[in-house]
Amino acid sequence: MPNAIIALGANLGDPVEALKAAVVDLEGSDGVAVKSVSPFYTTSPVESSGPDYVNAVALVETTLTPMALLKVCQTIELAHGRVRPQGVINAPRTLDLDVIDYEGVTSDAPVLTLPHPRMHERLFVLVPLADICPDWQMTNGQSIEETIKKVKKRHPDQKIFTLSSKSMA
Ligand code: AMP
Repeated sequence: MPNAIIALGANLGDPVEALKAAVVDLEGSDGVAVKSVSPFYTTSPVESSGPDYVNAVALVETTLTPMALLKVCQTIELAHGRVRPQGVINAPRTLDLDVIDYEGVTSDAPVLTLPHPRMHERLFVLVPLADICPDWQMTNGQSIEETIKKVKKRHPDQKIFTLSSKSMA
């Protein structure tokens, strides 16, 4: 069965509860089995605004196509009050679920770009991904750890803390 990585994020309402509920909803979706969920992190908004985010990633096994999996994610976002203000890119959100990778499938389609085009630049995806899938095959040909090191150097503004300890990840 194909494996996929879903990134979860929220910075409005009760982000921790929203992420927990999203995991329950993913698990309850036909054709989706949640294999593991990373620890939760607080992160500074990247190309976004508003309060800090809570982020995590989940490894799922799925019988769904990539597009059907995206639809499941969007349905869960809407169920948790996600709104998309017109003309505002990366607006603050009650819940965001992105398909980060689907069994290494590549797609340039704007409706579903795979792997997620910005995953290699975002600590809030890479750090939790390294927790649960340290050997995940990255399409940039580098290890996750190498990529994290480079992003930390290139983007010192991207702050990421483990949620429980508030210590730097
Ligand atoms: P966002 O505001 O981050 O939820 O952006 C969602 C938009 O990005 C939707 O129109 C999706 O169709 C599109 N999109 C493209 N690739 C992806 C992906 N890998 N995961 C989630 N949304 C995607």
